[in-house]
Amino acid sequence: MTGTQYQYIDGEWQTGQSDEQLAVRNPADPEEPIRTISQADRAQAASAVEAADAASKGWAAATPDERDAVLYDAADRIEDNVDDLAETLTHEEGKPLSSSRAEVSRAAEIFRFFASYARTATGDTVPSNDPGTFTYTFREPLGVVALVTPWNFPIATPSWKLATALVTGNAVVFKPSSETPTIAKRLVELLEAAGIPDGVVNLVIGPGSTVGDEVTTHERIDGISFTGSTGTGRHIAAAMAERGIPVQTEMGGKNPLVVLPDADLDAAADAVIAGAFGLTGQACTATSRLIVHEDVAEDVTDAVVDRAEALSIGPGMDDPDMGPAVSAGEDETNFDYVRIAKDEGAKLLTGGGRPDGLDSGYFIEPTVFGDVDPGMRIAQEEVFGPVLAILEVSDFDEAVDVASGVDFGLSASIYTADMALSRRFTEDIEAGVVKVNGTTTGSQIQLPFGGMKASSSEQKKEMGQRAYEFYTHEKVVYRTDP
Ligand code: NAP
Repeated sequence: MTGTQYQYIDGEWQTGQSDEQLAVRNPADPEEPIRTISQADRAQAASAVEAADAASKGWAAATPDERDAVLYDAADRIEDNVDDLAETLTHEEGKPLSSSRAEVSRAAEIFRFFASYARTATGDTVPSNDPGTFTYTFREPLGVVALVTPWNFPIATPSWKLATALVTGNAVVFKPSSETPTIAKRLVELLEAAGIPDGVVNLVIGPGSTVGDEVTTHERIDGISFTGSTGTGRHIAAAMAERGIPVQTEMGGKNPLVVLPDADLDAAADAVIAGAFGLTGQACTATSRLIVHEDVAEDVTDAVVDRAEALSIGPGMDDPDMGPAVSAGEDETNFDYVRIAKDEGAKLLTGGGRPDGLDSGYFIEPTVFGDVDPGMRIAQEEVFGPVLAILEVSDFDEAVDVASGVDFGLSASIYTADMALSRRFTEDIEAGVVKVNGTTTGSQIQLPFGGMKASSSEQKKEMGQRAYEFYTHEKVVYRTDP
Protein backbone atom coordinates (compact mmCIF):
# COMPACT_ATOMS: atom_id res chain seq x y z
CA MET A 1 0.00 0.00 0.00
CA THR A 2 1.20 3.53 -0.81
CA GLY A 3 2.16 4.75 2.68
CA THR A 4 0.17 7.46 4.35
CA GLN A 5 -1.03 9.23 1.23
CA TYR A 6 -4.74 8.60 0.70
CA GLN A 7 -5.74 11.21 -1.88
CA TYR A 8 -5.32 10.06 -5.50
CA ILE A 9 -5.50 12.96 -7.92
CA ASP A 10 -4.41 13.04 -11.56
CA GLY A 11 -2.48 9.80 -11.15
CA GLU A 12 -0.57 10.86 -8.02
CA TRP A 13 -0.95 9.85 -4.40
CA GLN A 14 -1.06 12.98 -2.26
CA THR A 15 -1.20 13.89 1.40
CA GLY A 16 -4.49 15.41 2.53
CA GLN A 17 -4.30 19.19 2.77
CA SER A 18 -6.77 19.65 5.63
CA ASP A 19 -5.49 20.29 9.16
CA GLU A 20 -8.08 17.82 10.41
CA GLN A 21 -7.00 14.21 10.76
CA LEU A 22 -9.27 11.18 10.38
CA ALA A 23 -8.83 8.43 12.98
CA VAL A 24 -9.73 5.02 11.52
CA ARG A 25 -10.87 2.58 14.20
CA ASN A 26 -11.47 -1.14 14.47
CA PRO A 27 -15.12 -1.36 15.59
CA ALA A 28 -14.38 -4.56 17.49
CA ASP A 29 -11.72 -2.76 19.53
CA PRO A 30 -12.01 0.99 18.96
CA GLU A 31 -9.77 2.24 21.82
CA GLU A 32 -6.69 2.61 19.65
CA PRO A 33 -7.06 4.02 16.11
CA ILE A 34 -5.73 1.63 13.44
CA ARG A 35 -4.31 4.63 11.62
CA THR A 36 -4.68 8.37 11.31
CA ILE A 37 -5.19 9.91 7.88
CA SER A 38 -4.69 13.44 6.58
CA GLN A 39 -8.01 14.45 5.05
CA ALA A 40 -8.55 16.44 1.88
CA ASP A 41 -9.90 19.96 2.05
CA ARG A 42 -12.25 21.71 -0.38
CA ALA A 43 -9.46 22.99 -2.63
CA GLN A 44 -7.96 19.53 -2.97
CA ALA A 45 -11.38 18.03 -3.71
CA ALA A 46 -11.88 20.71 -6.39
CA SER A 47 -8.51 19.81 -7.93
CA ALA A 48 -9.70 16.19 -8.17
CA VAL A 49 -12.76 17.31 -10.14
CA GLU A 50 -10.56 19.44 -12.41
CA ALA A 51 -8.19 16.51 -13.00
CA ALA A 52 -11.15 14.32 -13.95
CA ASP A 53 -12.44 17.04 -16.26
CA ALA A 54 -9.08 17.28 -18.03
CA ALA A 55 -8.87 13.49 -18.46
CA SER A 56 -12.48 12.87 -19.45
CA LYS A 57 -12.20 13.47 -23.21
CA GLY A 58 -9.26 11.09 -23.60
CA TRP A 59 -11.04 8.29 -21.75
CA ALA A 60 -14.28 8.92 -23.65
CA ALA A 61 -12.29 8.42 -26.85
CA ALA A 62 -10.66 5.16 -25.65
CA THR A 63 -11.64 2.14 -27.70
CA PRO A 64 -13.71 -0.72 -26.27
CA ASP A 65 -10.67 -3.00 -26.03
CA GLU A 66 -8.69 -0.32 -24.18
CA ARG A 67 -11.49 0.17 -21.66
CA ASP A 68 -12.29 -3.47 -21.06
CA ALA A 69 -8.59 -4.35 -20.69
CA VAL A 70 -8.38 -2.12 -17.60
CA LEU A 71 -11.58 -3.47 -16.07
CA TYR A 72 -10.73 -7.14 -16.67
CA ASP A 73 -7.27 -6.57 -15.26
CA ALA A 74 -8.74 -4.85 -12.17
CA ALA A 75 -11.05 -7.85 -11.68
CA ASP A 76 -8.08 -10.24 -11.78
CA ARG A 77 -6.12 -8.13 -9.31
CA ILE A 78 -9.06 -7.95 -6.89
CA GLU A 79 -9.40 -11.72 -7.08
CA ASP A 80 -5.66 -12.24 -6.55
CA ASN A 81 -5.86 -10.15 -3.37
CA VAL A 82 -9.08 -11.53 -1.84
CA ASP A 83 -7.58 -12.47 1.53
CA ASP A 84 -5.69 -9.24 2.04
CA LEU A 85 -8.62 -7.07 0.93
CA ALA A 86 -11.06 -9.02 3.10
CA GLU A 87 -8.88 -8.51 6.17
CA THR A 88 -8.60 -4.78 5.46
CA LEU A 89 -12.38 -4.59 5.09
CA THR A 90 -13.12 -6.52 8.29
CA HIS A 91 -10.56 -4.59 10.30
CA GLU A 92 -12.15 -1.28 9.34
CA GLU A 93 -15.87 -2.11 8.94
CA GLY A 94 -16.20 -5.03 11.33
CA LYS A 95 -18.15 -7.60 9.31
CA PRO A 96 -17.25 -11.31 9.63
CA LEU A 97 -14.27 -12.32 7.54
CA SER A 98 -16.26 -14.75 5.38
CA SER A 99 -18.72 -11.94 4.54
CA SER A 100 -15.80 -9.69 3.60
CA ARG A 101 -14.34 -12.39 1.36
CA ALA A 102 -17.69 -12.82 -0.36
CA GLU A 103 -17.97 -9.06 -0.87
CA VAL A 104 -14.46 -8.80 -2.34
CA SER A 105 -15.14 -11.69 -4.72
CA ARG A 106 -18.34 -9.96 -5.75
CA ALA A 107 -16.36 -6.81 -6.55
CA ALA A 108 -14.22 -8.83 -8.98
CA GLU A 109 -17.37 -10.34 -10.49
CA ILE A 110 -18.84 -6.83 -10.92
CA PHE A 111 -15.79 -5.50 -12.78
CA ARG A 112 -15.87 -8.52 -15.09
CA PHE A 113 -19.60 -8.25 -15.74
CA PHE A 114 -19.49 -4.55 -16.63
CA ALA A 115 -16.23 -4.86 -18.61
CA SER A 116 -18.16 -6.89 -21.16
CA TYR A 117 -20.36 -3.87 -21.89
CA ALA A 118 -17.40 -2.07 -23.52
CA ARG A 119 -17.77 -4.28 -26.58
CA THR A 120 -21.45 -5.15 -26.43
CA ALA A 121 -22.85 -1.60 -26.20
CA THR A 122 -25.49 -1.07 -28.85
CA GLY A 123 -27.84 1.64 -30.03
CA ASP A 124 -31.06 1.32 -32.02
CA THR A 125 -31.61 1.73 -35.71
CA VAL A 126 -35.21 2.82 -36.21
CA PRO A 127 -37.13 2.92 -39.51
CA SER A 128 -37.39 6.45 -40.92
CA ASN A 129 -40.41 7.96 -42.71
CA ASP A 130 -37.99 9.56 -45.15
CA PRO A 131 -36.21 7.02 -47.39
CA GLY A 132 -33.18 9.33 -47.69
CA THR A 133 -32.74 9.65 -43.93
CA PHE A 134 -31.01 7.07 -41.75
CA THR A 135 -32.25 7.26 -38.14
CA TYR A 136 -30.45 5.73 -35.18
CA THR A 137 -29.48 6.26 -31.54
CA PHE A 138 -26.22 5.90 -29.66
CA ARG A 139 -24.96 6.63 -26.18
CA GLU A 140 -22.06 8.75 -25.03
CA PRO A 141 -20.58 9.35 -21.56
CA LEU A 142 -21.84 12.10 -19.23
CA GLY A 143 -18.29 13.40 -18.70
CA VAL A 144 -17.24 13.69 -15.03
CA VAL A 145 -19.22 11.76 -12.46
CA ALA A 146 -19.05 12.04 -8.66
CA LEU A 147 -19.42 8.70 -6.88
CA VAL A 148 -20.35 9.01 -3.19
CA THR A 149 -20.59 5.78 -1.22
CA PRO A 150 -21.41 4.46 2.29
CA TRP A 151 -19.40 2.17 4.55
CA ASN A 152 -21.58 -0.93 4.70
CA PHE A 153 -20.51 -2.51 1.38
CA PRO A 154 -17.28 -0.53 1.10
CA ILE A 155 -15.82 -2.41 -1.88
CA ALA A 156 -18.91 -3.78 -3.67
CA THR A 157 -20.83 -0.49 -3.89
CA PRO A 158 -17.88 1.57 -5.19
CA SER A 159 -17.11 -1.27 -7.64
CA TRP A 160 -20.53 -1.26 -9.25
CA LYS A 161 -20.46 2.52 -9.63
CA LEU A 162 -16.82 2.67 -10.80
CA ALA A 163 -17.10 -0.21 -13.26
CA THR A 164 -20.25 1.17 -14.88
CA ALA A 165 -19.02 4.76 -15.00
CA LEU A 166 -15.65 3.76 -16.44
CA VAL A 167 -16.82 1.27 -19.03
CA THR A 168 -19.14 3.91 -20.47
CA GLY A 169 -16.21 6.35 -20.81
CA ASN A 170 -16.65 8.68 -17.83
CA ALA A 171 -13.92 10.11 -15.62
CA VAL A 172 -14.78 9.92 -11.92
CA VAL A 173 -14.17 11.47 -8.53
CA PHE A 174 -14.74 8.82 -5.88
CA LYS A 175 -15.65 9.99 -2.36
CA PRO A 176 -15.99 6.97 -0.06
CA SER A 177 -17.33 6.95 3.50
CA SER A 178 -14.99 8.32 6.14
CA GLU A 179 -15.49 5.06 8.07
CA THR A 180 -13.83 2.94 5.39
CA PRO A 181 -11.05 4.88 3.63
CA THR A 182 -8.46 2.10 3.51
CA ILE A 183 -10.44 -0.42 1.49
CA ALA A 184 -11.31 2.46 -0.89
CA LYS A 185 -7.64 3.27 -1.27
CA ARG A 186 -6.79 -0.40 -1.90
CA LEU A 187 -9.40 -0.56 -4.66
CA VAL A 188 -8.03 2.55 -6.38
CA GLU A 189 -4.47 1.21 -6.08
CA LEU A 190 -5.59 -1.90 -7.98
CA LEU A 191 -7.22 0.23 -10.69
CA GLU A 192 -3.97 2.20 -10.95
CA ALA A 193 -1.99 -1.04 -11.29
CA ALA A 194 -4.49 -2.22 -13.92
CA GLY A 195 -3.53 0.79 -16.05
CA ILE A 196 -6.30 3.33 -15.60
CA PRO A 197 -4.97 6.54 -17.22
CA ASP A 198 -4.03 9.47 -14.97
CA GLY A 199 -6.98 11.62 -13.95
CA VAL A 200 -9.67 9.14 -15.00
CA VAL A 201 -10.14 7.87 -11.43
CA ASN A 202 -9.59 10.29 -8.56
CA LEU A 203 -10.05 9.49 -4.88
CA VAL A 204 -10.70 12.04 -2.14
CA ILE A 205 -10.99 11.17 1.54
CA GLY A 206 -12.57 13.70 3.86
CA PRO A 207 -15.82 14.75 5.52
CA GLY A 208 -19.04 14.62 3.55
CA SER A 209 -19.93 18.14 4.68
CA THR A 210 -16.86 19.67 2.97
CA VAL A 211 -15.14 17.22 0.60
CA GLY A 212 -18.41 15.45 -0.31
CA ASP A 213 -20.14 18.78 -0.75
CA GLU A 214 -17.35 20.09 -3.00
CA VAL A 215 -17.32 17.08 -5.31
CA THR A 216 -21.10 17.01 -5.66
CA THR A 217 -21.62 20.76 -6.18
CA HIS A 218 -18.60 21.56 -8.37
CA GLU A 219 -19.67 23.09 -11.70
CA ARG A 220 -17.58 20.60 -13.71
CA ILE A 221 -19.53 17.62 -12.37
CA ASP A 222 -21.91 16.18 -14.98
CA GLY A 223 -23.62 13.49 -12.89
CA ILE A 224 -23.76 12.13 -9.34
CA SER A 225 -24.30 8.57 -8.19
CA PHE A 226 -24.91 8.44 -4.44
CA THR A 227 -25.63 5.58 -2.06
CA GLY A 228 -26.24 6.32 1.62
CA SER A 229 -28.85 7.64 3.99
CA THR A 230 -32.08 9.22 2.81
CA GLY A 231 -31.23 12.50 4.56
CA THR A 232 -27.92 12.95 2.75
CA GLY A 233 -29.27 11.70 -0.58
CA ARG A 234 -32.17 14.13 -0.54
CA HIS A 235 -29.88 16.98 0.47
CA ILE A 236 -27.60 16.29 -2.52
CA ALA A 237 -30.52 15.88 -4.92
CA ALA A 238 -32.12 19.14 -3.72
CA ALA A 239 -28.85 21.06 -4.04
CA MET A 240 -28.42 19.79 -7.61
CA ALA A 241 -32.02 20.28 -8.75
CA GLU A 242 -31.28 23.73 -10.21
CA ARG A 243 -28.41 22.48 -12.35
CA GLY A 244 -30.53 19.68 -13.79
CA ILE A 245 -27.70 17.15 -13.98
CA PRO A 246 -28.54 13.46 -13.50
CA VAL A 247 -28.48 12.51 -9.80
CA GLN A 248 -28.98 8.89 -8.82
CA THR A 249 -29.64 8.34 -5.11
CA GLU A 250 -30.08 4.91 -3.53
CA MET A 251 -30.95 5.32 0.13
CA GLY A 252 -32.42 3.75 3.27
CA GLY A 253 -34.93 0.97 3.86
CA LYS A 254 -37.37 -0.51 6.39
CA ASN A 255 -37.80 -3.84 4.71
CA PRO A 256 -40.66 -6.22 5.57
CA LEU A 257 -40.77 -10.00 5.42
CA VAL A 258 -44.36 -11.31 5.45
CA VAL A 259 -45.20 -14.83 6.66
CA LEU A 260 -48.58 -16.39 5.80
CA PRO A 261 -49.97 -19.49 7.58
CA ASP A 262 -49.24 -21.87 4.67
CA ALA A 263 -45.53 -20.95 4.53
CA ASP A 264 -42.60 -23.21 5.29
CA LEU A 265 -42.14 -21.71 8.75
CA ASP A 266 -38.60 -23.02 9.29
CA ALA A 267 -37.45 -21.55 6.00
CA ALA A 268 -39.15 -18.26 6.87
CA ALA A 269 -37.48 -18.11 10.31
CA ASP A 270 -34.08 -18.83 8.71
CA ALA A 271 -34.66 -16.01 6.22
CA VAL A 272 -35.63 -13.58 8.99
CA ILE A 273 -32.44 -14.38 10.90
CA ALA A 274 -30.24 -14.02 7.81
CA GLY A 275 -31.93 -10.75 6.81
CA ALA A 276 -32.21 -9.14 10.24
CA PHE A 277 -28.90 -10.14 11.83
CA GLY A 278 -26.57 -10.96 8.92
CA LEU A 279 -24.03 -8.12 8.55
CA THR A 280 -25.27 -6.90 11.96
CA GLY A 281 -28.42 -5.58 10.29
CA GLN A 282 -26.25 -3.06 8.44
CA ALA A 283 -27.63 -3.73 4.97
CA CYS A 284 -29.99 -1.37 3.19
CA THR A 285 -32.07 -4.46 2.40
CA ALA A 286 -31.94 -5.85 5.97
CA THR A 287 -35.18 -7.36 7.30
CA SER A 288 -36.28 -4.92 9.97
CA ARG A 289 -39.98 -5.89 10.13
CA LEU A 290 -41.40 -9.39 10.39
CA ILE A 291 -45.11 -9.17 9.49
CA VAL A 292 -46.67 -12.44 10.49
CA HIS A 293 -50.19 -13.86 10.27
CA GLU A 294 -51.73 -14.26 13.74
CA ASP A 295 -52.38 -18.01 13.21
CA VAL A 296 -48.64 -18.74 13.07
CA ALA A 297 -47.30 -15.72 14.96
CA GLU A 298 -46.40 -17.63 18.12
CA ASP A 299 -44.60 -20.44 16.26
CA VAL A 300 -42.65 -18.07 14.02
CA THR A 301 -41.77 -15.73 16.88
CA ASP A 302 -40.46 -18.62 19.00
CA ALA A 303 -38.42 -19.94 16.09
CA VAL A 304 -36.90 -16.50 15.42
CA VAL A 305 -36.09 -15.85 19.09
CA ASP A 306 -34.48 -19.31 19.49
CA ARG A 307 -32.35 -18.81 16.41
CA ALA A 308 -31.37 -15.24 17.41
CA GLU A 309 -30.20 -16.46 20.80
CA ALA A 310 -28.04 -19.15 19.17
CA LEU A 311 -26.04 -16.71 17.02
CA SER A 312 -22.38 -16.23 17.83
CA ILE A 313 -21.19 -12.65 18.25
CA GLY A 314 -17.63 -11.39 18.21
CA PRO A 315 -14.86 -9.61 16.32
CA GLY A 316 -15.19 -10.02 12.56
CA MET A 317 -11.67 -11.47 12.41
CA ASP A 318 -12.96 -14.52 14.37
CA ASP A 319 -15.66 -14.98 11.71
CA PRO A 320 -18.69 -15.15 14.03
CA ASP A 321 -22.32 -15.04 12.88
CA MET A 322 -22.50 -11.36 13.80
CA GLY A 323 -19.82 -8.69 14.21
CA PRO A 324 -20.00 -5.23 15.80
CA ALA A 325 -21.73 -2.07 14.58
CA VAL A 326 -19.38 0.02 12.47
CA SER A 327 -18.98 3.08 14.67
CA ALA A 328 -19.74 4.77 17.97
CA GLY A 329 -22.58 6.63 16.23
CA GLU A 330 -24.25 3.44 14.95
CA ASP A 331 -23.70 1.79 18.35
CA GLU A 332 -25.49 4.66 20.05
CA THR A 333 -28.34 4.53 17.51
CA ASN A 334 -28.87 0.81 18.15
CA PHE A 335 -29.23 1.33 21.90
CA ASP A 336 -31.34 4.46 21.36
CA TYR A 337 -33.85 2.42 19.36
CA VAL A 338 -33.97 -0.25 22.06
CA ARG A 339 -34.97 2.49 24.51
CA ILE A 340 -37.41 4.08 22.06
CA ALA A 341 -39.13 0.74 21.37
CA LYS A 342 -39.48 -0.03 25.09
CA ASP A 343 -40.85 3.46 25.79
CA GLU A 344 -43.39 3.02 22.99
CA GLY A 345 -44.67 -0.16 24.66
CA ALA A 346 -43.10 -2.79 22.41
CA LYS A 347 -42.14 -6.01 24.22
CA LEU A 348 -38.44 -6.94 24.28
CA LEU A 349 -38.39 -10.67 23.46
CA THR A 350 -34.62 -11.12 23.36
CA GLY A 351 -31.39 -9.11 23.22
CA GLY A 352 -31.20 -5.36 23.68
CA GLY A 353 -27.93 -5.38 25.64
CA ARG A 354 -24.18 -5.58 25.22
CA PRO A 355 -23.17 -9.27 24.92
CA ASP A 356 -21.22 -10.65 27.89
CA GLY A 357 -17.47 -10.28 27.56
CA LEU A 358 -17.67 -7.87 24.62
CA ASP A 359 -17.63 -4.55 26.45
CA SER A 360 -14.81 -2.97 24.49
CA GLY A 361 -16.36 -2.96 20.97
CA TYR A 362 -19.58 -1.72 19.39
CA PHE A 363 -21.46 -4.97 20.02
CA ILE A 364 -25.15 -5.52 20.68
CA GLU A 365 -27.12 -8.73 21.08
CA PRO A 366 -29.48 -9.68 18.25
CA THR A 367 -32.62 -7.91 19.40
CA VAL A 368 -36.27 -8.82 18.78
CA PHE A 369 -39.34 -6.78 19.75
CA GLY A 370 -42.90 -8.15 19.78
CA ASP A 371 -46.23 -6.34 20.28
CA VAL A 372 -45.19 -3.72 17.76
CA ASP A 373 -47.86 -1.45 16.26
CA PRO A 374 -47.42 -0.14 12.70
CA GLY A 375 -47.33 3.50 13.88
CA MET A 376 -44.45 3.02 16.36
CA ARG A 377 -41.08 4.54 15.47
CA ILE A 378 -39.49 1.08 15.70
CA ALA A 379 -41.89 0.04 12.89
CA GLN A 380 -41.32 3.13 10.77
CA GLU A 381 -37.69 4.32 11.04
CA GLU A 382 -34.53 2.72 9.73
CA VAL A 383 -32.37 1.49 12.63
CA PHE A 384 -29.58 0.08 10.45
CA GLY A 385 -28.68 -2.40 13.17
CA PRO A 386 -29.72 -5.86 14.39
CA VAL A 387 -33.09 -4.84 15.82
CA LEU A 388 -36.17 -6.65 14.51
CA ALA A 389 -39.80 -5.55 15.01
CA ILE A 390 -42.55 -8.22 14.85
CA LEU A 391 -46.02 -7.10 13.78
CA GLU A 392 -49.07 -9.40 13.75
CA VAL A 393 -51.76 -9.18 11.06
CA SER A 394 -54.99 -11.06 10.46
CA ASP A 395 -55.02 -11.42 6.65
CA PHE A 396 -53.09 -10.88 3.41
CA ASP A 397 -54.54 -7.43 2.71
CA GLU A 398 -53.60 -6.15 6.15
CA ALA A 399 -50.09 -7.61 5.68
CA VAL A 400 -49.63 -5.68 2.44
CA ASP A 401 -51.02 -2.46 3.97
CA VAL A 402 -48.63 -2.71 6.91
CA ALA A 403 -45.70 -3.71 4.71
CA SER A 404 -46.21 -0.72 2.41
CA GLY A 405 -47.22 1.66 5.19
CA VAL A 406 -43.78 3.24 5.64
CA ASP A 407 -41.88 6.00 3.83
CA PHE A 408 -39.33 3.55 2.43
CA GLY A 409 -39.71 1.06 -0.43
CA LEU A 410 -36.48 -0.81 -1.02
CA SER A 411 -36.96 -4.58 -0.69
CA ALA A 412 -39.75 -6.87 0.57
CA SER A 413 -40.40 -10.59 0.83
CA ILE A 414 -43.33 -12.92 1.35
CA TYR A 415 -43.26 -16.54 2.53
CA THR A 416 -46.25 -18.51 1.29
CA ALA A 417 -47.09 -21.56 -0.82
CA ASP A 418 -50.03 -19.73 -2.41
CA MET A 419 -49.11 -18.87 -6.02
CA ALA A 420 -51.94 -16.40 -6.49
CA LEU A 421 -51.24 -14.47 -3.28
CA SER A 422 -47.52 -14.33 -3.91
CA ARG A 423 -48.18 -12.91 -7.37
CA ARG A 424 -50.56 -10.32 -5.89
CA PHE A 425 -47.84 -9.43 -3.39
CA THR A 426 -45.34 -8.74 -6.16
CA GLU A 427 -47.90 -6.40 -7.74
CA ASP A 428 -49.29 -4.66 -4.64
CA ILE A 429 -46.19 -4.16 -2.49
CA GLU A 430 -44.41 -0.79 -2.67
CA ALA A 431 -40.81 -1.96 -3.03
CA GLY A 432 -38.21 -1.88 -5.79
CA VAL A 433 -36.99 -5.44 -5.10
CA VAL A 434 -39.54 -8.16 -4.29
CA LYS A 435 -38.75 -11.72 -3.21
CA VAL A 436 -41.09 -14.68 -2.92
CA ASN A 437 -39.82 -17.26 -0.42
CA GLY A 438 -36.44 -15.52 -0.19
CA THR A 439 -34.50 -13.19 2.09
CA THR A 440 -34.98 -9.42 1.77
CA THR A 441 -31.20 -9.19 1.47
CA GLY A 442 -29.08 -10.36 -1.45
CA SER A 443 -29.15 -9.47 -5.11
CA GLN A 444 -27.64 -10.72 -8.33
CA ILE A 445 -25.50 -8.32 -10.30
CA GLN A 446 -27.14 -9.10 -13.65
CA LEU A 447 -30.48 -7.85 -12.28
CA PRO A 448 -31.34 -4.19 -11.73
CA PHE A 449 -31.22 -2.98 -8.13
CA GLY A 450 -32.90 0.00 -6.49
CA GLY A 451 -35.85 1.14 -4.44
CA MET A 452 -38.98 3.27 -4.57
CA LYS A 453 -40.33 6.13 -2.43
CA ALA A 454 -37.81 7.44 0.17
CA SER A 455 -35.39 4.65 -0.77
CA SER A 456 -34.51 5.97 -4.22
CA SER A 457 -34.68 8.89 -6.62
CA GLU A 458 -35.53 6.23 -9.24
CA GLN A 459 -33.10 7.83 -11.70
CA LYS A 460 -32.42 4.51 -13.47
CA LYS A 461 -31.49 1.38 -11.55
CA GLU A 462 -27.99 0.35 -10.55
CA MET A 463 -26.49 -2.96 -11.66
CA GLY A 464 -28.25 -5.16 -14.19
CA GLN A 465 -27.98 -5.13 -17.94
CA ARG A 466 -28.94 -1.48 -18.37
CA ALA A 467 -27.07 0.12 -15.46
CA TYR A 468 -25.02 1.99 -18.06
CA GLU A 469 -28.07 4.14 -18.91
CA PHE A 470 -27.54 6.41 -15.92
CA TYR A 471 -23.94 7.14 -16.94
CA THR A 472 -24.74 8.03 -20.55
CA HIS A 473 -26.63 10.50 -22.71
CA GLU A 474 -28.72 8.98 -25.46
CA LYS A 475 -28.40 10.79 -28.79
CA VAL A 476 -30.89 10.43 -31.62
CA VAL A 477 -29.49 10.97 -35.12
CA TYR A 478 -31.31 11.81 -38.38
CA ARG A 479 -28.69 11.50 -41.15
CA THR A 480 -29.90 12.57 -44.57
CA ASP A 481 -27.96 11.92 -47.76
CA PRO A 482 -26.70 15.18 -49.35
P1 NAP B 1 -24.46 8.72 4.87
O1 NAP B 1 -24.14 9.25 6.22
O2 NAP B 1 -25.58 9.33 4.13
O3 NAP B 1 -23.09 8.84 4.03
C1 NAP B 1 -22.99 8.34 2.73
C2 NAP B 1 -21.87 9.09 2.01
O4 NAP B 1 -22.26 10.46 1.83
C3 NAP B 1 -20.55 9.12 2.79
O5 NAP B 1 -19.48 9.03 1.89
C4 NAP B 1 -20.60 10.51 3.43
O6 NAP B 1 -19.32 11.01 3.79
C5 NAP B 1 -21.22 11.31 2.30
N1 NAP B 1 -21.81 12.58 2.70
C6 NAP B 1 -22.31 12.94 3.91
N2 NAP B 1 -22.78 14.22 3.85
C7 NAP B 1 -22.58 14.66 2.59
C8 NAP B 1 -22.85 15.90 1.91
N3 NAP B 1 -23.43 16.93 2.52
N4 NAP B 1 -22.51 16.00 0.61
C9 NAP B 1 -21.94 14.97 -0.05
N5 NAP B 1 -21.64 13.79 0.55
C10 NAP B 1 -21.97 13.63 1.85
O7 NAP B 1 -24.75 7.15 4.92
P2 NAP B 1 -23.92 6.01 5.68
O8 NAP B 1 -24.15 6.12 7.14
O9 NAP B 1 -22.51 6.01 5.18
O10 NAP B 1 -24.61 4.68 5.13
C11 NAP B 1 -25.73 4.09 5.70
C12 NAP B 1 -26.98 4.41 4.91
O11 NAP B 1 -26.80 4.00 3.55
C13 NAP B 1 -28.21 3.68 5.39
O12 NAP B 1 -29.29 4.57 5.40
C14 NAP B 1 -28.44 2.60 4.31
O13 NAP B 1 -29.77 2.18 4.19
C15 NAP B 1 -27.96 3.31 3.10
N6 NAP B 1 -27.60 2.36 2.03
C16 NAP B 1 -28.40 2.28 0.94
C17 NAP B 1 -28.12 1.37 -0.07
C18 NAP B 1 -29.01 1.25 -1.29
O14 NAP B 1 -28.54 0.72 -2.30
N7 NAP B 1 -30.25 1.70 -1.23
C19 NAP B 1 -26.99 0.54 0.04
C20 NAP B 1 -26.19 0.66 1.18
C21 NAP B 1 -26.50 1.58 2.16
P3 NAP B 1 -18.78 10.86 5.30
O15 NAP B 1 -18.66 9.40 5.57
O16 NAP B 1 -17.49 11.55 5.25
O17 NAP B 1 -19.80 11.53 6.16
